Amino acid sequence: MSRSSDRIWEKVLTIIKPQISEQSFTTWFDPLRPLEIENKTLTLEIPNKFFSEWIDEHYHDIIYDALEDVVDSDVRIKYYIRSSNGQSKGNGNGNIGIKTDSAERPILPKPKEYFMQKEQPLLNRQYSFETFVEGPSNQFAHAVAYAVAEKPGKTNFNPLLIWGGVGLGKTHLAQAIGLFALQNKRVKQLSYTWAKQFMVDFINSVRNNKREEFTNKFDKVDLLIVDDIEFFINKTETQAEFFHIFNMLHQQGKQIVLTSDRPPREFAGAIQERLTSRFQNGLVVDIKPPDLETRVAILQQKASDAGVELDAEVALMIANHITRNIRELQGALNHVLAYSSVMKTDIDCILVKRVLKDLKYYESKPLSIEDIQRVVANHFGINDNMLRDKTRKREIVYPRQVAMFLVKELTNHSLKAIGLHFGGRDHSTVLHAIKSVELMLENNEDTREMLSTLKQSVSYIRE
Ligand code: ADP
Ligand code: MG
Repeated sequence: MSRSSDRIWEKVLTIIKPQISEQSFTTWFDPLRPLEIENKTLTLEIPNKFFSEWIDEHYHDIIYDALEDVVDSDVRIKYYIRSSNGQSKGNGNGNIGIKTDSAERPILPKPKEYFMQKEQPLLNRQYSFETFVEGPSNQFAHAVAYAVAEKPGKTNFNPLLIWGGVGLGKTHLAQAIGLFALQNKRVKQLSYTWAKQFMVDFINSVRNNKREEFTNKFDKVDLLIVDDIEFFINKTETQAEFFHIFNMLHQQGKQIVLTSDRPPREFAGAIQERLTSRFQNGLVVDIKPPDLETRVAILQQKASDAGVELDAEVALMIANHITRNIRELQGALNHVLAYSSVMKTDIDCILVKRVLKDLKYYESKPLSIEDIQRVVANHFGINDNMLRDKTRKREIVYPRQVAMFLVKELTNHSLKAIGLHFGGRDHSTVLHAIKSVELMLENNEDTREMLSTLKQSVSYIRE
């Protein structure tokens, strides 16, 4: 390991650390090892491919910004996947900015430069129709997107506006249209941009007296894809420019595809009427949150893409806890895969539960009085109904007192409420029970042990 790569990486980490949570840092940065710096390329050793993808998706800018602060010149990052015998292997390198595991591919420049290459459509090869899992929530949008990709500008779906909540696949579908149309030579020129980028470029062109040049760039475009047009809200000048380009292309029968996080009716007042009415002339489709089967199918497909077979039980567990956002679904899966490979454990429900808890998707359910009654009754070999009975038999009274004590200690219920749940006893009875157990706790080692066992059993049912 070269010393300079160590030094650089250490400084980079010092900059990154305060910017992200401790947990993310430990999960994603601790396992990375700098190998060398050569030809302006810093090689990092990573445990597996998910790391490069995850880091690419989440920490790309943070890493490059930090690198920029530490070294003067442009430095790129390359990954080496650590093989299971602890040695690095060369066929698994990827680089930030591109999702690949081929060593042959050229290293892409860092994103700031990348963004400036307007001629190159910024499409992610992973966002294809093949990798898009269909379900009732997105079937229609998918079908229409496919039709548009097959015959851009020649369907009634022009413009096509796809809207839906965050992380539901709008960008994926919009890019799939672009990829398909390019790959199958349905279009020659494609322009893919974010509404925000469109605005930035437009403003720059005005500032630099190159406005005409900016507009002319769209002249030859056969397929214009603009992502996240909600960004145009209240940006009047940009809207006017966009309207102009939109009309220019639309009149020539060129295809326009737009995405938005809300339906056009919610643009009222914030985006010019003349523009929104253009949207309505084509087709507006929405993508809804996926149902359970689709979520499971997505998880299984993503896992299988990563070369991992996911148990149905495990997939269900993740899908049951993450319901509204496919990006988060994928994020949780990546965490699971990363944990399992770093810690060399199987992907089972225990691991998944742990990850979901760490990611705050897994809420412990609140403990109910009935839960505690069941655990205590079970421990003493009696039926839990007996705890709520009127009986004063000694073999029931003692477990009942223990149960009351535990309820008081482990929940926020008042003495009165506890009494009601134990067959309508009054609060002084509950108080007496608690005091008796406390007394035994002070004087009796067996009681202490029993209570600790019971508490542990109770904690299991909360999971
Ligand atoms: P949006 O643009 O709606 O916020 P994205 O298109 O960026 O969401 O999707 C978020 C992530 O979820 C992406 O990684 C995407 O590939 C994935 N994804 C979304 N929908 C699907 C789907 N139906 N099948 C497979 N992956 C999907
Ligand atoms: Mg998007």
